[in-house]
Amino acid sequence: MSLFDTHIVVDWSGGNDVGPRPKKDAIWIGVERNGQTEPPVYMRNRAYAEDWLAARIADELERGHRLCIGFDFAFGYPRGFAEALTGKSDPLALWDWFEARVEDAPKQNNRAELAGQINAMFEGIGPFWGNPSPKLDVPDLPRKGLARTCSTFAERRVVETRAKGSFPVWQLAGAGAVGSQVIMGLPVLARLRQRFTGRVSVWPFEPLDTPVALVEVWPSLIAGAVAEGQYEGEIKDAAQVRLLARALSRLDQVGRLEPILADGRTESGEGWILGVGFEEEIAAMARDSGTRLPNDCFALPPGVDWTPVDVALASLKDSLTPVVGVEKLAISNASGRVLAEDLTAARSNPPGANSAIDGYGFAFDGFAPEMPLVPGRAAPGDPYRAAVPKGQAIRILTGALLPEGVDTILMQEEASVSDGLLRAQAKVKRGQNARAAGEDVKAGDLTLRAGTRLRPQDVALATAVGVAEAAVFKPLRVGVISTGDELAPPAPDTSPDRTFDANRPMLMGLAEAWGHVPVDLGHVEDTRDALRARMRDGALSCDVILTSGGASAGDADHVSALLSEEGALTHWRVAIKPGRPLALAVFDGVPVFGLPGNPVAAFVCALIFARPAFSALSGGGWTEPVGFDVPAAFSKSKKRGRREYLRARLTADGTSEVFASEGSGRISGLSWAEGLVELGDDAREITPGDLVRYIPFGSFGL
Ligand code: AMP
Ligand code: MG
Repeated sequence: MSLFDTHIVVDWSGGNDVGPRPKKDAIWIGVERNGQTEPPVYMRNRAYAEDWLAARIADELERGHRLCIGFDFAFGYPRGFAEALTGKSDPLALWDWFEARVEDAPKQNNRAELAGQINAMFEGIGPFWGNPSPKLDVPDLPRKGLARTCSTFAERRVVETRAKGSFPVWQLAGAGAVGSQVIMGLPVLARLRQRFTGRVSVWPFEPLDTPVALVEVWPSLIAGAVAEGQYEGEIKDAAQVRLLARALSRLDQVGRLEPILADGRTESGEGWILGVGFEEEIAAMARDSGTRLPNDCFALPPGVDWTPVDVALASLKDSLTPVVGVEKLAISNASGRVLAEDLTAARSNPPGANSAIDGYGFAFDGFAPEMPLVPGRAAPGDPYRAAVPKGQAIRILTGALLPEGVDTILMQEEASVSDGLLRAQAKVKRGQNARAAGEDVKAGDLTLRAGTRLRPQDVALATAVGVAEAAVFKPLRVGVISTGDELAPPAPDTSPDRTFDANRPMLMGLAEAWGHVPVDLGHVEDTRDALRARMRDGALSCDVILTSGGASAGDADHVSALLSEEGALTHWRVAIKPGRPLALAVFDGVPVFGLPGNPVAAFVCALIFARPAFSALSGGGWTEPVGFDVPAAFSKSKKRGRREYLRARLTADGTSEVFASEGSGRISGLSWAEGLVELGDDAREITPGDLVRYIPFGSFGL
């Protein structure tokens, strides 16, 4: 369960922007509601921002939502400052103190004067420095930090000593300075607290037991993720608030916001920056621009014992949505990628009427068995620029645009030419051998749909109709883990109590064949800690994790044990042979498919469950393998109540033979086979010649 429904991040500004065109260094607000990203909001100045925030808070409260709002300025000053000014130890008293004294109008404010007045209250030159105005000197406010002599307060808050690159709150002016933002921001927050009394808490000073929480954030924590260029064409400040709001929302969805909030230090009344010490995790959440799955997405209806394959598949299909981000690629680099947008033809194919053959063109209405040829010719890329008079003909080559006056073409093999005269030796039909403009595709036609995995021929089509680039999904990163103490890498002289890890290269190969990016997360010994650490890494670097082994509920089955304690685990007892059990879980926001250790079962379950699921996660939609009925070349008696997949291949006469043994340890059968025979859930007596459903591996994308 998320702590908040809506996550907002505000990039404050100490200066004044008169607008109206959005620019950087103004106020930008990023919003993520129920995991949905809203376009970043631009605010000309603080007055607009305050009104917007008040209206949004009121609206969210009315909807019964819980709301987390992050601001990128310090909520407090180094220890002792608040008390020295207000006489109270409550850091929020300083907010009200500023609120009573700061004057803020769009074109003018008193922040520098106020800082000077505060300086004057302390011995020597006080803590503030930096004059935002290049011309006017401000009493008691030095232009340079070194001019200060006051040592009453620390230069930095404790948290600022941990946040690399942060600026001290005393500095009011200069590139990167934040002092002005604090003075101009705190009064706004103080007023919001007053306006929504009892419904707003301030982190980390107060317990977060109200619907609205105000927290201090610092967008630089995700600077790396932003710099990786997820904001092409977007103003960087807008991208930052958008990505940070999304990171907070995702952390919340996977239960990580709570411990990160709990880490905030309150002792000194200085405040804390949310996420310091968790930089990597936050950046990872900001980086991947897809969406995360909710924890309960693999829940099965209660009371289900052995789940039929179709029910399991239908449930998977309902719960999975694309989790990967989107990027623009040149169409020539997009083969194998999944379209994230519909493509419409930018121009027609062919763009102009042209000849399908080498021959002679003329107007059908002026046709005569003998016609004079005009001098010159029409060639592809070298059109004939004049009109061809009625009753005359022109030499024309394949692909050449039809000159004006030409609508019909006589094949050169059906003509003879002498003395500048064309003689037709065959009957002629109106329009023959001419291709109309747009006869294949018309400009503006929907050409390829979102969700299409682009094959080379699709790239050819897109290119032919003038599509130069397309929005495509980023590749799905599939992490592969093998578990089991008995596993070992292949090596000579390995003792027979070791099993070579055959599943990992197999599953990585499958992921790759399906167009995803396999990520080798290695072999993990059967201990909870090792597995947890590996899964954590995997969840940060991958979009989905595929494990094999340890998926049942037995003693040595750590995958299953870990996932049931720390991920939202659903044990799927699917009525399938070979297979079962299948462990499906969401761990740190990433879906985990726990396959059986048995290589044959792992392979079949990967084809039946992981392939369509990964396709859905990668933006390509659910896939169903196409099979066809062929006569069996074998006999078999099958029990009712579960679906069976047999390793099979077609014989020369088009019947289906199956592998000699159904033993699920027989990896050789996988290699022998070219497809699977699928036998439905009911009982069956199969004798040679009976029709069975054969699904070639090609239908599984292999
Ligand atoms: P498990 O599902 O962990 O009980 O494993 C079932 C069987 O599959 C055991 O015989 C394991 O040794 C075998 N097995 C598990 N993982 C692999 C693997 N990566 N490669 C080959 N065999 C495996
Ligand atoms: Mg095992």
